[in-house]
Amino acid sequence: MESNPFQQDRRRFLKGVTLTIGASVITLPLFSMGSGFFESPQGQELQVAGSGSQQRKLGVALVGLGKYSTDQLAPALQQTKDCYLAGIVTGTPSKAQEWKAKYNIPDKNVYNYSNFDKIADNKDIDIVYVVLPNSMHAEYVIRAAKAKKHVITEKPMATSVADAERMIAACRENGVQLAVGYRLHFDPFHQRVMELGQKQVYGKVQHINTTNSGNQTHGSPDIWRLDRELSGGGPLMDMGIYCVQAACYTTGKTPVAVTARFGEVTNSKYFSEVEQSINWQMDFGDGVIAECNSSYAESKDMLEAKAEKGWWKLGPSYGYEGKKGETSSGKMDLPNVYEQALQMDGQAESFRKNQPSITPGEMGLRDVKILMAIYESARAGGKRVTITG
Ligand code: NAD
Repeated sequence: MESNPFQQDRRRFLKGVTLTIGASVITLPLFSMGSGFFESPQGQELQVAGSGSQQRKLGVALVGLGKYSTDQLAPALQQTKDCYLAGIVTGTPSKAQEWKAKYNIPDKNVYNYSNFDKIADNKDIDIVYVVLPNSMHAEYVIRAAKAKKHVITEKPMATSVADAERMIAACRENGVQLAVGYRLHFDPFHQRVMELGQKQVYGKVQHINTTNSGNQTHGSPDIWRLDRELSGGGPLMDMGIYCVQAACYTTGKTPVAVTARFGEVTNSKYFSEVEQSINWQMDFGDGVIAECNSSYAESKDMLEAKAEKGWWKLGPSYGYEGKKGETSSGKMDLPNVYEQALQMDGQAESFRKNQPSITPGEMGLRDVKILMAIYESARAGGKRVTITG
């Protein structure tokens, strides 16, 4: 539910930042991967269509033409340098007509959910990007992997650890790469946070405090985000996942344990199946605690961290644009960028080399494990739940 209050004016600043961003992106693997907990698929041979040519853009097929695909990913794919919108997968024929005309997509690159597997024969499509409700990610990632396409899946990667593991296994078995659409790893403000925390620019991180909340109580309650079967949970799965991510990339570590409590349900019309709000703590085992919160009954976001010799904070922090940041030394002088364009270009570049993305499936699996531990703790009234590898 990232269509938040900071989304009013879609001004993007790509010009004049290429060098800065380019340099930052090159340094990303260390920071994104933290202390290297993620296993990479090894030694796989893959024939990516046209991989011999550095000039050819990789073709992306978006699966699910909802709000995020429509408002963010498709426009971003008009700005990307290494990939382009080559195809679509939709269950709605009227959307197919509209998108074909708008983005000049040939009939042969338009699929529905039944004939999707035929995408295996389509040389125009190198990457399948799954942008469906959370519990559907697993099925479509696995089908895409079997079609021998590289895959990007939206967050959260899956609604269970078992699904996330099946997705990784399917990609590994079929020799394709799997990445999660964690756009903030491509954002200069969050890259700075990774650097400040992991490089201990102000000494060791001592405490993290973060919230990411978006109000879901204005429209219909009949939406997949409020349906447990499709969403896997409420604000934690949708927005709190950014707090989980931020705590991990600020410290460069995976928490050893979590404790959590659900907030009170004050609006049962919307929150009969998923939590209205949740507070949780992530214990990194070395004295560092992240205090986190996410709610579907208000809108706010911020990320702050305190270290031995200084502090930093972002606010707005997690939306698509309008980010602002400050440290104990002054304002962060960083550009707002087109995160989705940089993300897809970065992922396409790693796929072209058949290398894991800086946000690989293994990172998505780590996060699903943390999310599930948070729910386990909240269901048990705040019991400490350890995170197991
Ligand atoms: P949405 O409701 O706008 O779109 C969902 C799409 O799935 C629609 O095209 C819908 O027709 C299709 N669909 C297929 N089967 C469905 C079913 N059984 N029930 C409901 N819809 C069905 O949602 P969205 O906001 O585009 O989110 C899609 C995914 O993208 C989610 O996983 C979400 O977490 C993620 N997302 C990520 C970001 C980000 O910043 N990375 C932002 C928004 C959404």
